[in-house]
Amino acid sequence: MQKEYLLGKNIEELREVALNVGLPAFAAKQMADWLYKKRVATIDEMSNLSKKGREALNQRYSVGRIDPTHKAESVDGTKKYLFPVSCGEKVEAVYIPSADRATLCISTQAGCKMHCKFCMTGTLGFHGQLTVCDMLNQIFSIPEADQLTNIVVMGMGEPMDNVDNLLRTLEVMTAEWGCAWSPRRITVSTVGLIPGLERFLHESECHLAVSLHNPFSREREDIMPVEKAYRLKEVLELIKQFDFAHQRRVSFEYIVFAGVNDTIRHAVELQKILRGLPCRINLIRFHDSDQCELKCASDERIAFLRDYLNENGITTTIRQSRGEDILAACGMLIAKEGNQ
Ligand code: SF4
Repeated sequence: MQKEYLLGKNIEELREVALNVGLPAFAAKQMADWLYKKRVATIDEMSNLSKKGREALNQRYSVGRIDPTHKAESVDGTKKYLFPVSCGEKVEAVYIPSADRATLCISTQAGCKMHCKFCMTGTLGFHGQLTVCDMLNQIFSIPEADQLTNIVVMGMGEPMDNVDNLLRTLEVMTAEWGCAWSPRRITVSTVGLIPGLERFLHESECHLAVSLHNPFSREREDIMPVEKAYRLKEVLELIKQFDFAHQRRVSFEYIVFAGVNDTIRHAVELQKILRGLPCRINLIRFHDSDQCELKCASDERIAFLRDYLNENGITTTIRQSRGEDILAACGMLIAKEGNQ
């Protein structure tokens, strides 16, 4: 019989587990400490539970920790890991160290349904939702787990298309009984899937990053089919109802493509649609590849956009390109390795 995983269970569910195996209800708090604070990999390490209790737990449950199967390391220190997940596929997690932080980018789905034209994951199709355990395991099982200062949910998949499991993962990461991280250390990205985004905005305090990539609806449709179902205009109207002027932040990701979204017309429209919203724009260099007809804009065009937007009141930075030599862009390692 396949054992049930403990990783991912919240405090109420751990209470049920305790009662199921004849442990007292307060053992739930002890288990949560072992799972989320001390981060043990086996039930046998939960040494303040009775021996009998641990044996009973071992009969039906296991922690659910799984090591990555593959690591690629860039000359710039970026490391990409492949993790097996419960739907039978593999997903990527990317560790990105910098001078003042150590960030992990995690995946929420195996593949993706969104089919963004510039994204390798989009071309893989959708293969399954990640469980809460699958998401937490990426964070807990990289060798650098203890050094992490930030999490970005920007890997494979659209997080708001797996919003139940996303919100439960964020709960474990931020709850006092869980990892007790500040929600300000976590940023979740979306293409703008409104139903999931609405729940995320109400039920979490984590930062938000929106993949914008083109301010004109007709043009955005060409590279991001989601625009046909959920218009950027409606996404922005929703976001503007929430407070991003204080501790919580919203940023907009903008991959700059040559001749597609790098003109003064785009800069003016960006400034117009984001007026009144305290936010930042991250301009991103595209990793050119043979499989995609879109190409990265020149350094001059990217610098032009940055300068225009900064001069017109929107804080805009150019994101450092990391890990190009190990294909750290969304889905690229999986596509190259095959999902064996
Ligand atoms: S960019 Fe994100 S949402 Fe779009 S296809 Fe890739 S993984 Fe999916």
